[in-house]
Amino acid sequence: MKKFVSCALVAIFFCLIFVGCNKKTQAIDCYDIKVNYYDNGLIAVDLTVTYHKKMGEDMAHFNLFPKGECALKLNKSTANFKLIKVMVNGADANYSYDTPYCLLVDAPNIDTFDVTLKYTILLGEGEGRLCKTKSGINMGNFLILACPVIDGKFIKYAPSNFGDPFVSQVANFNVSLIVPSTYVVSASANAKTCDIYGDKTLYSYTQNYIRDFCFSLSKNYNINYQKWGNKPVIYYFYNDTNSNLTSQLIMDALCFYQNIFNTYPYGALSICQTTFSHGGMEYPLMAFVADNLSREEFYFAIAHEIAHQWWYSLVGVNQVYDYYIDEGFAQYSAYLFFKNYPQYGVDTKNFVQENNLLVEGYKNNPFKRIAVTNFSGDEDYYINAYAYPFYLIYKKAQKAGESTVIKYMQSILNDYKNKFVPPSAFDFFID
Ligand SMILES: [Zn+2]
Repeated sequence: MKKFVSCALVAIFFCLIFVGCNKKTQAIDCYDIKVNYYDNGLIAVDLTVTYHKKMGEDMAHFNLFPKGECALKLNKSTANFKLIKVMVNGADANYSYDTPYCLLVDAPNIDTFDVTLKYTILLGEGEGRLCKTKSGINMGNFLILACPVIDGKFIKYAPSNFGDPFVSQVANFNVSLIVPSTYVVSASANAKTCDIYGDKTLYSYTQNYIRDFCFSLSKNYNINYQKWGNKPVIYYFYNDTNSNLTSQLIMDALCFYQNIFNTYPYGALSICQTTFSHGGMEYPLMAFVADNLSREEFYFAIAHEIAHQWWYSLVGVNQVYDYYIDEGFAQYSAYLFFKNYPQYGVDTKNFVQENNLLVEGYKNNPFKRIAVTNFSGDEDYYINAYAYPFYLIYKKAQKAGESTVIKYMQSILNDYKNKFVPPSAFDFFID
Protein backbone atom coordinates (compact mmCIF):
# COMPACT_ATOMS: atom_id res chain seq x y z
CA MET A 1 0.00 0.00 0.00
CA LYS A 2 2.77 2.36 0.94
CA LYS A 3 4.44 1.68 -2.39
CA PHE A 4 1.21 2.39 -4.26
CA VAL A 5 0.59 5.66 -2.42
CA SER A 6 4.18 6.70 -2.96
CA CYS A 7 4.06 5.85 -6.69
CA ALA A 8 0.76 7.69 -7.04
CA LEU A 9 2.26 10.76 -5.39
CA VAL A 10 5.26 10.57 -7.71
CA ALA A 11 2.91 10.25 -10.72
CA ILE A 12 0.87 13.28 -9.59
CA PHE A 13 4.07 15.17 -8.97
CA PHE A 14 5.49 14.39 -12.43
CA CYS A 15 2.16 15.39 -14.02
CA LEU A 16 2.33 18.73 -12.22
CA ILE A 17 5.90 19.25 -13.34
CA PHE A 18 4.99 18.27 -16.91
CA VAL A 19 2.24 20.87 -16.93
CA GLY A 20 4.64 23.38 -15.36
CA CYS A 21 7.28 22.75 -17.99
CA ASN A 22 4.89 23.41 -20.83
CA LYS A 23 3.60 26.75 -19.69
CA LYS A 24 4.43 29.35 -22.31
CA THR A 25 5.88 31.62 -19.65
CA GLN A 26 8.46 28.98 -18.66
CA ALA A 27 11.72 30.12 -20.16
CA ILE A 28 14.17 27.72 -18.58
CA ASP A 29 14.85 24.15 -19.64
CA CYS A 30 13.25 21.32 -17.70
CA TYR A 31 15.04 17.99 -17.27
CA ASP A 32 13.31 14.72 -16.49
CA ILE A 33 16.05 12.17 -15.80
CA LYS A 34 15.97 8.49 -14.92
CA VAL A 35 19.26 7.05 -13.72
CA ASN A 36 20.04 3.42 -13.04
CA TYR A 37 23.29 2.54 -11.31
CA TYR A 38 24.43 -1.10 -11.50
CA ASP A 39 26.98 -2.58 -9.15
CA ASN A 40 29.37 -3.40 -12.03
CA GLY A 41 29.98 0.33 -12.49
CA LEU A 42 27.48 0.91 -15.29
CA ILE A 43 25.27 4.01 -15.24
CA ALA A 44 22.28 4.05 -17.62
CA VAL A 45 20.70 7.45 -18.16
CA ASP A 46 17.36 8.20 -19.84
CA LEU A 47 17.11 12.00 -20.05
CA THR A 48 14.34 14.11 -21.56
CA VAL A 49 14.76 17.85 -21.65
CA THR A 50 12.08 20.33 -22.56
CA TYR A 51 14.42 22.45 -24.65
CA HIS A 52 13.78 26.12 -25.30
CA LYS A 53 15.55 27.54 -28.31
CA LYS A 54 18.16 30.01 -27.16
CA MET A 55 18.73 31.97 -30.37
CA GLY A 56 16.30 30.52 -32.93
CA GLU A 57 18.87 27.78 -33.66
CA ASP A 58 18.04 24.98 -36.11
CA MET A 59 19.98 22.49 -33.97
CA ALA A 60 19.73 21.98 -30.22
CA HIS A 61 23.22 22.19 -28.68
CA PHE A 62 24.37 19.87 -25.89
CA ASN A 63 27.60 19.52 -23.93
CA LEU A 64 28.68 15.89 -23.54
CA PHE A 65 30.19 16.25 -20.06
CA PRO A 66 30.26 12.49 -19.29
CA LYS A 67 32.09 11.77 -22.54
CA GLY A 68 34.76 14.30 -21.54
CA GLU A 69 35.05 12.93 -18.00
CA CYS A 70 35.61 9.42 -19.39
CA ALA A 71 38.51 10.78 -21.49
CA LEU A 72 40.39 12.37 -18.57
CA LYS A 73 43.66 11.09 -17.13
CA LEU A 74 42.05 11.05 -13.66
CA ASN A 75 40.60 7.67 -14.59
CA LYS A 76 43.12 4.96 -13.84
CA SER A 77 41.23 2.32 -15.79
CA THR A 78 39.18 2.58 -18.96
CA ALA A 79 35.92 4.47 -18.76
CA ASN A 80 33.43 4.42 -21.58
CA PHE A 81 30.60 6.69 -22.70
CA LYS A 82 28.05 5.44 -25.24
CA LEU A 83 25.21 7.46 -26.77
CA ILE A 84 22.40 5.02 -27.53
CA LYS A 85 19.39 7.00 -28.68
CA VAL A 86 18.47 10.56 -29.68
CA MET A 87 14.83 11.53 -30.11
CA VAL A 88 12.85 14.72 -30.61
CA ASN A 89 9.26 14.79 -29.43
CA GLY A 90 9.30 11.00 -29.15
CA ALA A 91 10.59 10.20 -32.66
CA ASP A 92 14.14 9.26 -33.71
CA ALA A 93 16.08 12.41 -34.58
CA ASN A 94 19.05 13.27 -36.77
CA TYR A 95 22.13 14.43 -34.95
CA SER A 96 25.77 15.31 -35.56
CA TYR A 97 28.79 16.57 -33.64
CA ASP A 98 30.10 20.12 -33.68
CA THR A 99 33.14 18.98 -31.67
CA PRO A 100 33.71 15.53 -30.11
CA TYR A 101 32.06 16.92 -26.95
CA CYS A 102 29.26 19.00 -28.46
CA LEU A 103 26.18 17.21 -29.78
CA LEU A 104 23.88 18.90 -32.30
CA VAL A 105 20.32 17.60 -32.60
CA ASP A 106 18.16 18.67 -35.53
CA ALA A 107 15.44 20.92 -34.15
CA PRO A 108 11.85 21.20 -35.37
CA ASN A 109 10.52 24.54 -36.47
CA ILE A 110 9.05 25.37 -33.06
CA ASP A 111 10.53 27.20 -30.09
CA THR A 112 10.06 24.51 -27.45
CA PHE A 113 10.34 20.75 -27.87
CA ASP A 114 11.44 17.62 -26.03
CA VAL A 115 14.82 16.05 -26.69
CA THR A 116 15.39 12.55 -25.31
CA LEU A 117 18.94 11.26 -24.88
CA LYS A 118 19.65 7.71 -23.75
CA TYR A 119 23.23 6.82 -22.90
CA THR A 120 25.43 4.66 -20.72
CA ILE A 121 28.62 5.35 -18.83
CA LEU A 122 30.88 2.49 -17.78
CA LEU A 123 32.88 3.93 -14.91
CA GLY A 124 36.62 3.55 -14.64
CA GLU A 125 38.47 3.40 -11.34
CA GLY A 126 40.18 6.52 -10.07
CA GLU A 127 39.87 9.65 -7.98
CA GLY A 128 38.02 11.96 -10.36
CA ARG A 129 34.56 13.45 -10.52
CA LEU A 130 32.98 10.52 -12.35
CA CYS A 131 34.45 7.16 -11.36
CA LYS A 132 34.56 4.23 -8.97
CA THR A 133 36.79 5.10 -6.04
CA LYS A 134 38.16 3.24 -3.04
CA SER A 135 35.32 4.68 -0.96
CA GLY A 136 32.36 4.51 -3.36
CA ILE A 137 31.06 6.11 -6.51
CA ASN A 138 31.68 9.74 -7.50
CA MET A 139 28.83 10.64 -9.85
CA GLY A 140 29.60 14.21 -10.86
CA ASN A 141 29.47 15.63 -14.41
CA PHE A 142 27.45 12.60 -15.57
CA LEU A 143 24.67 14.58 -17.27
CA ILE A 144 24.45 15.78 -20.85
CA LEU A 145 23.18 19.36 -20.58
CA ALA A 146 22.15 22.06 -23.04
CA CYS A 147 24.99 24.40 -24.01
CA PRO A 148 24.37 27.76 -22.37
CA VAL A 149 24.48 30.99 -24.34
CA ILE A 150 26.76 33.75 -23.10
CA ASP A 151 27.20 36.96 -25.10
CA GLY A 152 25.27 35.52 -28.02
CA LYS A 153 27.45 32.39 -28.33
CA PHE A 154 26.94 28.77 -27.35
CA ILE A 155 29.55 27.79 -24.77
CA LYS A 156 30.99 24.47 -25.84
CA TYR A 157 32.76 22.22 -23.39
CA ALA A 158 36.10 20.48 -23.88
CA PRO A 159 37.60 18.31 -21.14
CA SER A 160 40.55 19.70 -19.22
CA ASN A 161 43.02 18.14 -16.81
CA PHE A 162 43.01 21.45 -14.90
CA GLY A 163 39.93 22.85 -13.21
CA ASP A 164 36.52 21.95 -14.55
CA PRO A 165 35.29 23.88 -17.62
CA PHE A 166 31.74 22.96 -16.74
CA VAL A 167 29.21 25.63 -17.78
CA SER A 168 25.46 25.30 -17.62
CA GLN A 169 22.51 27.55 -17.14
CA VAL A 170 19.94 27.15 -14.39
CA ALA A 171 17.22 24.63 -15.14
CA ASN A 172 14.56 22.60 -13.37
CA PHE A 173 15.41 19.00 -12.54
CA ASN A 174 13.24 15.98 -11.81
CA VAL A 175 15.54 13.04 -11.19
CA SER A 176 15.08 9.45 -10.15
CA LEU A 177 17.86 7.03 -9.24
CA ILE A 178 17.68 3.25 -8.93
CA VAL A 179 20.64 1.89 -7.04
CA PRO A 180 21.56 -1.30 -5.12
CA SER A 181 20.20 -0.81 -1.60
CA THR A 182 23.63 -1.46 -0.09
CA TYR A 183 24.61 2.12 -1.02
CA VAL A 184 23.97 5.24 1.04
CA VAL A 185 23.07 7.97 -1.45
CA SER A 186 23.84 11.67 -1.30
CA ALA A 187 22.32 13.91 -3.96
CA SER A 188 21.83 17.47 -5.24
CA ALA A 189 18.42 17.61 -3.57
CA ASN A 190 16.53 16.16 -0.68
CA ALA A 191 14.82 12.86 -1.71
CA LYS A 192 11.06 13.27 -2.02
CA THR A 193 10.44 9.55 -1.96
CA CYS A 194 12.53 6.48 -1.31
CA ASP A 195 11.11 3.03 -2.05
CA ILE A 196 12.67 -0.40 -1.83
CA TYR A 197 12.10 -2.93 -4.64
CA GLY A 198 13.85 -6.22 -3.90
CA ASP A 199 17.54 -5.43 -3.48
CA LYS A 200 17.26 -1.99 -5.11
CA THR A 201 16.09 1.41 -3.89
CA LEU A 202 14.38 4.06 -5.99
CA TYR A 203 14.95 7.68 -4.97
CA SER A 204 13.05 10.60 -6.49
CA TYR A 205 14.09 14.24 -6.39
CA THR A 206 13.00 17.59 -7.65
CA GLN A 207 14.96 20.82 -7.51
CA ASN A 208 14.36 23.96 -9.52
CA TYR A 209 16.83 26.65 -10.54
CA ILE A 210 20.03 24.64 -10.35
CA ARG A 211 22.79 24.11 -12.91
CA ASP A 212 23.48 20.39 -12.59
CA PHE A 213 22.67 17.29 -10.56
CA CYS A 214 25.17 15.06 -8.80
CA PHE A 215 25.33 11.94 -6.61
CA SER A 216 27.86 10.45 -4.25
CA LEU A 217 27.35 6.80 -3.29
CA SER A 218 29.11 4.80 -0.63
CA LYS A 219 28.46 1.61 1.28
CA ASN A 220 30.45 3.05 4.20
CA TYR A 221 28.76 6.38 4.79
CA ASN A 222 27.79 7.47 8.28
CA ILE A 223 25.35 10.35 8.39
CA ASN A 224 25.18 13.40 10.63
CA TYR A 225 21.76 14.90 9.99
CA GLN A 226 20.93 18.42 11.12
CA LYS A 227 18.04 20.75 10.36
CA TRP A 228 18.49 24.40 9.49
CA GLY A 229 14.97 25.74 9.75
CA ASN A 230 13.19 23.15 7.62
CA LYS A 231 16.26 22.42 5.48
CA PRO A 232 18.27 19.22 5.98
CA VAL A 233 22.01 19.80 6.29
CA ILE A 234 23.73 16.44 6.02
CA TYR A 235 27.32 15.38 6.48
CA TYR A 236 28.24 12.02 4.86
CA PHE A 237 31.52 10.61 6.14
CA TYR A 238 33.45 7.40 6.79
CA ASN A 239 36.62 8.74 8.35
CA ASP A 240 36.26 11.60 10.81
CA THR A 241 37.14 11.32 14.50
CA ASN A 242 35.29 14.56 15.29
CA SER A 243 32.31 14.48 12.96
CA ASN A 244 30.16 16.58 15.31
CA LEU A 245 32.60 19.47 15.05
CA THR A 246 32.67 19.11 11.26
CA SER A 247 28.87 19.22 11.19
CA GLN A 248 28.92 22.33 13.37
CA LEU A 249 31.38 23.95 10.96
CA ILE A 250 29.07 23.18 8.00
CA MET A 251 26.17 24.84 9.81
CA ASP A 252 28.25 27.83 10.93
CA ALA A 253 29.57 28.40 7.40
CA LEU A 254 26.03 28.32 5.94
CA CYS A 255 24.79 30.84 8.53
CA PHE A 256 27.83 33.06 8.06
CA TYR A 257 27.52 33.26 4.26
CA GLN A 258 23.78 33.78 4.48
CA ASN A 259 24.36 36.69 6.87
CA ILE A 260 27.00 38.45 4.83
CA PHE A 261 25.90 37.67 1.26
CA ASN A 262 22.36 36.57 0.65
CA THR A 263 19.75 34.05 1.71
CA TYR A 264 20.63 30.45 0.93
CA PRO A 265 17.83 29.69 -1.54
CA TYR A 266 18.08 25.92 -1.83
CA GLY A 267 16.17 23.27 0.10
CA ALA A 268 19.10 21.27 1.52
CA LEU A 269 22.88 20.91 1.64
CA SER A 270 25.03 17.79 1.71
CA ILE A 271 28.78 17.61 2.28
CA CYS A 272 30.27 14.28 1.24
CA GLN A 273 33.63 12.90 2.19
CA THR A 274 35.02 10.95 -0.75
CA THR A 275 38.18 9.70 -2.40
CA PHE A 276 39.00 12.65 -4.61
CA SER A 277 42.24 13.94 -6.09
CA HIS A 278 41.65 17.69 -5.95
CA GLY A 279 40.58 18.75 -2.44
CA GLY A 280 36.92 19.29 -3.17
CA MET A 281 34.34 19.83 -5.85
CA GLU A 282 31.18 21.88 -5.79
CA TYR A 283 27.80 20.78 -7.12
CA PRO A 284 24.34 22.23 -6.56
CA LEU A 285 23.31 21.60 -2.95
CA MET A 286 26.28 19.34 -2.36
CA ALA A 287 30.04 19.03 -2.50
CA PHE A 288 32.74 16.35 -2.53
CA VAL A 289 35.51 16.88 0.01
CA ALA A 290 38.62 14.70 -0.25
CA ASP A 291 39.34 12.17 2.51
CA ASN A 292 43.12 12.59 2.38
CA LEU A 293 43.45 16.17 3.64
CA SER A 294 44.90 17.40 6.93
CA ARG A 295 42.28 18.64 9.42
CA GLU A 296 43.01 22.29 8.55
CA GLU A 297 42.88 21.62 4.80
CA PHE A 298 39.69 19.58 5.24
CA TYR A 299 37.94 22.40 7.08
CA PHE A 300 39.14 24.99 4.60
CA ALA A 301 37.94 22.83 1.69
CA ILE A 302 34.48 22.47 3.29
CA ALA A 303 34.11 26.24 3.82
CA HIS A 304 35.37 26.89 0.27
CA GLU A 305 32.94 24.39 -1.28
CA ILE A 306 29.96 25.73 0.69
CA ALA A 307 30.80 29.25 -0.55
CA HIS A 308 30.45 27.90 -4.10
CA GLN A 309 26.70 27.63 -3.46
CA TRP A 310 26.76 31.41 -3.86
CA TRP A 311 29.71 31.66 -6.31
CA TYR A 312 29.05 29.10 -9.04
CA SER A 313 25.58 27.90 -8.18
CA LEU A 314 23.66 31.16 -7.63
CA VAL A 315 26.01 33.39 -9.61
CA GLY A 316 27.07 31.45 -12.68
CA VAL A 317 30.53 31.76 -14.18
CA ASN A 318 31.86 30.83 -17.60
CA GLN A 319 34.20 28.16 -16.20
CA VAL A 320 36.13 27.90 -19.46
CA TYR A 321 37.53 31.45 -19.14
CA ASP A 322 36.36 33.10 -15.90
CA TYR A 323 36.94 30.30 -13.31
CA TYR A 324 39.11 32.72 -11.24
CA ILE A 325 36.00 34.72 -10.29
CA ASP A 326 34.17 31.99 -8.38
CA GLU A 327 37.40 30.38 -7.13
CA GLY A 328 38.68 33.75 -5.89
CA PHE A 329 35.34 34.56 -4.24
CA ALA A 330 35.13 31.10 -2.66
CA GLN A 331 38.67 31.47 -1.27
CA TYR A 332 37.92 34.92 0.09
CA SER A 333 34.58 33.77 1.58
CA ALA A 334 36.32 30.87 3.37
CA TYR A 335 39.03 33.24 4.63
CA LEU A 336 36.37 35.60 6.06
CA PHE A 337 34.59 32.66 7.68
CA PHE A 338 37.68 31.36 9.50
CA LYS A 339 38.68 34.87 10.52
CA ASN A 340 35.31 35.15 12.26
CA TYR A 341 35.34 31.56 13.60
CA PRO A 342 38.84 31.03 15.06
CA GLN A 343 37.59 28.06 17.10
CA TYR A 344 38.09 25.83 14.04
CA GLY A 345 41.84 26.36 14.22
CA VAL A 346 42.40 27.52 10.64
CA ASP A 347 45.23 30.04 10.82
CA THR A 348 44.08 32.82 8.47
CA LYS A 349 47.20 34.96 8.99
CA ASN A 350 49.34 32.05 7.89
CA PHE A 351 46.98 31.41 4.97
CA VAL A 352 47.35 35.01 3.76
CA GLN A 353 51.12 34.93 4.22
CA GLU A 354 51.56 31.70 2.27
CA ASN A 355 49.21 32.90 -0.45
CA ASN A 356 51.11 36.21 -0.76
CA LEU A 357 54.45 34.39 -0.98
CA LEU A 358 53.12 32.20 -3.76
CA VAL A 359 51.87 35.18 -5.77
CA GLU A 360 54.90 37.38 -5.08
CA GLY A 361 57.18 34.52 -6.18
CA TYR A 362 55.18 34.44 -9.40
CA LYS A 363 55.24 38.21 -9.93
CA ASN A 364 57.20 38.20 -13.16
CA ASN A 365 54.27 36.30 -14.57
CA PRO A 366 51.25 38.61 -14.56
CA PHE A 367 47.78 37.38 -13.58
CA LYS A 368 46.58 35.29 -16.52
CA ARG A 369 42.94 35.33 -17.53
CA ILE A 370 43.21 32.56 -20.11
CA ALA A 371 41.14 29.51 -21.03
CA VAL A 372 41.47 26.79 -18.42
CA THR A 373 42.61 24.37 -21.12
CA ASN A 374 45.68 26.56 -21.82
CA PHE A 375 47.59 26.12 -18.55
CA SER A 376 50.97 24.42 -18.60
CA GLY A 377 50.67 22.62 -15.27
CA ASP A 378 48.91 22.27 -11.91
CA GLU A 379 50.91 25.04 -10.23
CA ASP A 380 50.31 27.53 -13.03
CA TYR A 381 46.60 26.76 -12.84
CA TYR A 382 46.46 26.93 -9.02
CA ILE A 383 48.17 30.33 -8.87
CA ASN A 384 45.91 31.90 -11.49
CA ALA A 385 42.65 30.30 -10.41
CA TYR A 386 43.04 30.52 -6.61
CA ALA A 387 46.09 32.33 -5.24
CA TYR A 388 46.19 35.38 -7.52
CA PRO A 389 42.47 36.19 -7.40
CA PHE A 390 42.47 35.83 -3.58
CA TYR A 391 45.56 38.07 -3.44
CA LEU A 392 43.81 40.75 -5.50
CA ILE A 393 40.58 40.60 -3.49
CA TYR A 394 42.50 40.68 -0.21
CA LYS A 395 44.59 43.69 -1.35
CA LYS A 396 41.43 45.50 -2.41
CA ALA A 397 39.88 44.85 1.02
CA GLN A 398 43.01 46.22 2.71
CA LYS A 399 42.83 49.36 0.61
CA ALA A 400 39.10 50.02 0.36
CA GLY A 401 37.89 48.16 3.44
CA GLU A 402 36.46 44.69 3.94
CA SER A 403 32.90 46.05 4.02
CA THR A 404 33.40 47.66 0.58
CA VAL A 405 34.45 44.31 -0.86
CA ILE A 406 31.55 42.48 0.80
CA LYS A 407 29.13 45.12 -0.51
CA TYR A 408 30.56 44.66 -3.98
CA MET A 409 30.11 40.89 -3.74
CA GLN A 410 26.50 41.47 -2.62
CA SER A 411 25.94 43.65 -5.70
CA ILE A 412 27.25 40.85 -7.93
CA LEU A 413 24.72 38.52 -6.32
CA ASN A 414 21.91 40.98 -6.91
CA ASP A 415 22.88 41.60 -10.53
CA TYR A 416 23.77 38.06 -11.65
CA LYS A 417 21.68 35.68 -9.54
CA ASN A 418 20.81 32.67 -11.75
CA LYS A 419 22.71 34.29 -14.64
CA PHE A 420 26.39 34.48 -15.64
CA VAL A 421 28.71 37.15 -14.27
CA PRO A 422 30.85 38.82 -16.97
CA PRO A 423 34.67 38.89 -16.59
CA SER A 424 34.56 42.69 -16.40
CA ALA A 425 33.05 42.29 -12.90
CA PHE A 426 36.49 41.22 -11.67
CA ASP A 427 38.15 44.42 -12.94
CA PHE A 428 37.03 46.02 -9.65
CA PHE A 429 39.86 44.10 -7.95
CA ILE A 430 42.56 45.03 -10.44
CA ASP A 431 44.19 48.45 -10.05
ZN1 LIG B 1 36.50 25.93 -5.79
